[in-house]
Amino acid sequence: MHCPFCRHLDSRVIDSRSSEDGTAIRRRRLCPECNQRFTTVETTMLMIVKRSGVTEQFCREKVIAGVRRACQGRPVSEDALAQLGQKVEHALRALGRAHLPAHEVGLAVLGPLRDLDEVAYLRFASVYRGFESLGDFEAEIRRLRAERKLASPEDSAPEDSAPEDSAPENSAAEKWAPVPA
Ligand SMILES: [Zn+2]
Repeated sequence: MHCPFCRHLDSRVIDSRSSEDGTAIRRRRLCPECNQRFTTVETTMLMIVKRSGVTEQFCREKVIAGVRRACQGRPVSEDALAQLGQKVEHALRALGRAHLPAHEVGLAVLGPLRDLDEVAYLRFASVYRGFESLGDFEAEIRRLRAERKLASPEDSAPEDSAPEDSAPENSAAEKWAPVPA
């Protein structure tokens, strides 16, 4: 490994440790020429197989760019997007596979994005899952409400200060759903 400071052609490993989740190895290196220290990270190449069959290296920035589009106009910070990118990459690497179909990437985005912003989640899911009608949105919103109830039943009680959920307490997700004509 070249020294990033003086471009010396060699460096010495002085420490080597595995990351907590075992998906990477960090090596502390010392340049014998300029004596500077630097760190390298060794991790498996994560390849994404597109529907066309084309294989490309996983790119966290690309994932973040897609989520950023869905978050336009929403109160989601760049830091939150970066954190989401990190989570998604961790989740994908934790699968321990060298190749992943592209749809697994979208799938890994859905959970963290739902926690971040439900509107952005709906936008992303509508593209990723190919929503074709209002009914698709309605079904997804029903599911969101049902899951939110499961996650925190006390939180679904109405409060004057709660701007997000104006539904009355006893409107179960099923009741809330529009009755088919
Ligand atoms: Zn050097």
